[in-house]
Amino acid sequence: MTRRLAIALVHYPVRDAEGASVTSAITNLDVHDLARSARTYGCSDYFVVHPIDAQRELVDRIRTHWLEGSSGRRIPDRKEAIAMVRPVPSIEAAYDAVGGRAACEVWVTAAKRRTDGAGVPTIDFTEARARLRGDGKPVVLLFGTAWGLADALLASADAALAPIAAAEATGYNHLSVRAACAIALDRLLGA
Ligand code: SAM
Repeated sequence: MTRRLAIALVHYPVRDAEGASVTSAITNLDVHDLARSARTYGCSDYFVVHPIDAQRELVDRIRTHWLEGSSGRRIPDRKEAIAMVRPVPSIEAAYDAVGGRAACEVWVTAAKRRTDGAGVPTIDFTEARARLRGDGKPVVLLFGTAWGLADALLASADAALAPIAAAEATGYNHLSVRAACAIALDRLLGA
């Protein structure tokens, strides 16, 4: 048995190039591609976190287009994935949807080790995969947009997943969030 694992794509609070906390815009491709990964690996939910009503309405329109429009009939596989998308106004709303912050574990992702000094343990994927087996609180796994998750959000997590990187140092590991999500879910839940 595997613990419940939800993913959340965070558009606020995220960092800008200078490290300030900002809100990023919805990207259509992220809505689709993370939904497909979430559906493939058996995640319970895919939360798209955005504080602006009009941006969540955009996500709703994409969702409705695929669930009720002709595209969903034409490409049912995509419809099934898009059905997982849940736009929410805040990260707290995502936690509430799985029972509240105290009732879940929050794991964060970043290309660099950014929680060192914040008292958040970094766990490698072998350990994280083992932790997901058996009983335990639901896990909400956070992915960032823009320049990544804001420092305060990283510091509020229960654990940080080790950055994804090549076995041989390449000096580069800045993945798109779509690639990072697919790789992380495959390492955590893949066959
Ligand atoms: N606009 C960008 C895009 O095209 O996706 C957004 C970049 S955003 C910083 C990428 C997010 O993907 C990070 O916040 C993190 O969640 C994840 N990510 C990227 N590279 C990663 C890595 N090497 N290890 C773990 N997570 C990574």
